Amino acid sequence: MQRIPTFSKGGVHPDDNKVYSREQAIERLPMPGELLVALSQHLGAPAKALKAKGDTVVKGEKIGEASGFISADVHSPVSGTIKEIRKVTLANSIKCDAYVIVPDSEQPELPTEKADWKSQEPAELLAQIKDMGIVGMGGATFPAHVKLSIPKDKKVEAFVVNGVECEPYLTADYRIMLERGEQALEGAMIAAKITGASRIIIGIEMNKPDGIAHLKDIVKEKGYPIEVVGLKMKYPQGDEKQLLKATINREIPSGKLPLDVGAVVANIGTCNAIYEAIVLKKSLYERVISVTGECIAHPKNIIAPIGTKMSDLLEFCGGFSSEPEKMVSGGPMMGFSFYDTETPMTKGSSGLLALEPKKKYRSTACLNCGRCVAACPIGLMPAKLYRYITNGEYETAMQTSLMDCKECGCCAFVCPAQLPLVHTMKTGKKLGRKKK
Ligand code: SF4
Ligand code: SF4
Repeated sequence: MQRIPTFSKGGVHPDDNKVYSREQAIERLPMPGELLVALSQHLGAPAKALKAKGDTVVKGEKIGEASGFISADVHSPVSGTIKEIRKVTLANSIKCDAYVIVPDSEQPELPTEKADWKSQEPAELLAQIKDMGIVGMGGATFPAHVKLSIPKDKKVEAFVVNGVECEPYLTADYRIMLERGEQALEGAMIAAKITGASRIIIGIEMNKPDGIAHLKDIVKEKGYPIEVVGLKMKYPQGDEKQLLKATINREIPSGKLPLDVGAVVANIGTCNAIYEAIVLKKSLYERVISVTGECIAHPKNIIAPIGTKMSDLLEFCGGFSSEPEKMVSGGPMMGFSFYDTETPMTKGSSGLLALEPKKKYRSTACLNCGRCVAACPIGLMPAKLYRYITNGEYETAMQTSLMDCKECGCCAFVCPAQLPLVHTMKTGKKLGRKKK
């Protein structure tokens, strides 16, 4: 029997819980009464405000300018008026300025004309991706124009599309695959052209058989040189390191990047955004988000303007069916818990989860069972790191590869002593950096 590809080291199998929203086709959110468009919704320096209180804005217009090498432009999701610029706290706890925009009652339609990208040079395509504010849509929000800028001394052999969506509950990428698959694959062709990659591979976990079949059909019909690869279900396969091992059998050494092993990785939602930027001339001002979990009355996959408040998304889904224990932005393994429903969605918001209370167990002392070591996909020794950090031995923890920790949560997931391993790793990194 043929082996189903996956990564080799560690990993866990949480329940995928995608059943709540996987059958829900993408629905457009009715226009909210007010949006909070943050100036820091990408990795790197916040964008610089280009507008002031009282200014009018047009849908798709640049309203924030990238302010450093790693930064991204921000665009208005609507035509409307800037009521004020206010400090907001995002779901990931970042505090930044945000435009409060009141949308006009009438919104312009998107032009339907399509641009031809095949005749354009890679540099021209890259410049448009930068101008349209495209960032990684899987949650990392790394500016796409930086990722796709390949230094002269590097060569890209493989462009790998991340269609894994290994975080439980989330189904936004799955719906993009089914409903915008043609666009996303054309976006992958554009990105591959920019990087000069000779191979294009898309990795998708086997819990999306119809997604795999649909993309294979498109590839066949269009004659695209894209390999669609079904992967065994295993978390955290969506991480670049694990995805490259699973799809092209390359290992990224500690402290190195995919580019160092001849690869570039982009999420399927990012490929869709690249298509929209280049072919439809549409800046990144809206995205698909899964609003799901046991406590959501009517879970949905929603296309909503960036800056939509979580309260508007919840209302569209009929609110809570029962009191959630917590709300999470992103997936349950690596997402961010937040409490204020006025928190706005950003370019990286892949999910809004409302999760039911779980049975609580008290933490005990470490049992030295070694399960965390077996589960760690990086090959770290989480129990040892936990001991160093809680003893204040930050330097020793740093010397024991603490900075390689991806905060994926596999160790905490399997720990029978219920130790707060990920939280401790995060704290250890912060304090260890300070001590340096
Ligand atoms: S959170 Fe860090 S230590 Fe724990 S399994 Fe993931 S990478 Fe390993
Ligand atoms: S899984 Fe938990 S109890 Fe077991 S060795 Fe690791 S930290 Fe200790």
